[in-house]
Amino acid sequence: MKLIFLGPPGAGKGTLAARAVSILAVPHISTGNIFRAAIAARSPLGLKVKGILDSGALVDDESTIGLVRERLARADAQGGYILDGFPRTIPQAEALAAFSAVDRVVNFDIPDAAVLERLGGRRTCRNCGTNFHILFTRPQREGICDSCGGELYTREDDREGAIQKRLGVYREQTAPLIAFYRTRGLLVDVDARPAVDKVVENFTKALGL
Ligand code: AMP
Repeated sequence: MKLIFLGPPGAGKGTLAARAVSILAVPHISTGNIFRAAIAARSPLGLKVKGILDSGALVDDESTIGLVRERLARADAQGGYILDGFPRTIPQAEALAAFSAVDRVVNFDIPDAAVLERLGGRRTCRNCGTNFHILFTRPQREGICDSCGGELYTREDDREGAIQKRLGVYREQTAPLIAFYRTRGLLVDVDARPAVDKVVENFTKALGL
């Protein structure tokens, strides 16, 4: 199954994608994770996008589309995928439609107040990208990732000013994708406010899995 996970930052797309991967046995492709890995590796792409990610703005469409096109051409994505964080603009959605036909677009719906609460307390593993939360999903050992033992940190773009910026970018550039996919009959709405197990249940029901 070829899926897009749509929703504002903090809707839980990454966490839900990690859960959905074990149900659907398809790769989880997160453009944010790809950019962060490039930054950690200090590759040319990483050097180019670091300031953009830290500020909460979007990387240019051309670079992002090229990256996803290459990633979707790999063998493991032929049977399906979960795209998390892509597309984020109408031009990206139009480009994607020209090289891959998605089956469903899952729209994880959540109000801004819940986003602020979630992202403000989020801690991310520097090594594997797993997310924790200082109140809701605390790691067993303070500051250490349960999955791989990596160091947990606060993403630069999870700081107050950058969160507001990302919400603004989402409203202006990404939210129009909801209507874009609804008119194409691909959109499935899922309430992202409950705890993760409940959202996974709603998601599997909504997709008839
Ligand atoms: P995320 O982990 O999905 O919140 O993405 C983190 C950051 O990576 C975003 O704030 C953007 O700077 C960049 N990014 C991720 N996906 C895209 C995309 N599809 N288009 C442009 N920039 C992106």
